Amino acid sequence: KKGLEKAKQGITDRIDEVLKSYTSVDEELFEDLEEVLITADVGVNTTMEIIEQLEDRVRRKKITDPMLVRDELKSIVREILSNGECKLDVEPSPCIIVMVGVNGVGKTTTIGKLASRYKSEGKKVMLAAADTFRAAATEQLDIWAKRTGTDIVKHQEGADPGAVVFDAIKAAKARHVDVLICDTAGRLHNKANLMNELGKIFKIINREFPEAKREVLLVVDATTGQNAVVQAKTFKEVADITGIALTKLDGTAKGGVVLAVKSEVDVPVKLIGVGERVEDLQDFDADSFTDALFG
Ligand code: GDP
Repeated sequence: KKGLEKAKQGITDRIDEVLKSYTSVDEELFEDLEEVLITADVGVNTTMEIIEQLEDRVRRKKITDPMLVRDELKSIVREILSNGECKLDVEPSPCIIVMVGVNGVGKTTTIGKLASRYKSEGKKVMLAAADTFRAAATEQLDIWAKRTGTDIVKHQEGADPGAVVFDAIKAAKARHVDVLICDTAGRLHNKANLMNELGKIFKIINREFPEAKREVLLVVDATTGQNAVVQAKTFKEVADITGIALTKLDGTAKGGVVLAVKSEVDVPVKLIGVGERVEDLQDFDADSFTDALFG
């Protein structure tokens, strides 16, 4: 699959190198595989879990050919990725998607990609610029609104994010919007602050838009490796995250972070970003992801 070449190089090509260098299955083989997984940012816990399962299966099936170990590894990866799999679903209309995540992870870009996706499906889309802390955030979102031909509700820099959401909901109702996508400020340096800010936004949504289907998407950057896992765990403590969008998977050999996020954070990965263009956003699919990695 397009965009995952680097992840393939970083994980499977290296796994294959290891497997080819062995003529029989022994303890050292598993140690080498373990090292590949950790280097590819699968995370220590998840790696241990995978290797343990792998050793167990190889023993049970009495596998002696290293190349057959590959099939077992592939099926373990597929199982981890399929566990709790679910897609981003904006039906029934109206739906409000609240986007959270720290700055620089690709939040604005993902909003733009989603706006474009739903527009092309014939849905009425609106953006709410509720990251009022940075003027640049609203400007960036504005560019995406123009590019995708989407309505946007914005206030001035420093305005109350809750007021932006309030106005956006009012406008969305008046214009019969199907999908309202809210940007939020991603200042993680102070957890209490973040919780407070997001809390105010959710309170307004609860009060003003209870009929809307709600998605809370956390955007994390795959190139930050284990940081993505840490961010996911932190955001999960402050908001009811319904899904994760993992961006920039095209730019990293450490695509193993998908596995770490899947097995260490109990929230489904719903979207993956594999480039900067609007079409570079995919629904996460465990089978096609596994096939893209292992061929
Ligand atoms: P924000 O601060 O979280 O809103 O981040 P932006 O949306 O502004 O994105 C930061 C940078 O990452 C921009 O240069 C984007 O083009 C880039 N970016 C976002 N998503 C992806 C992706 O999936 N792949 C690649 N290669 N770049 C991305």
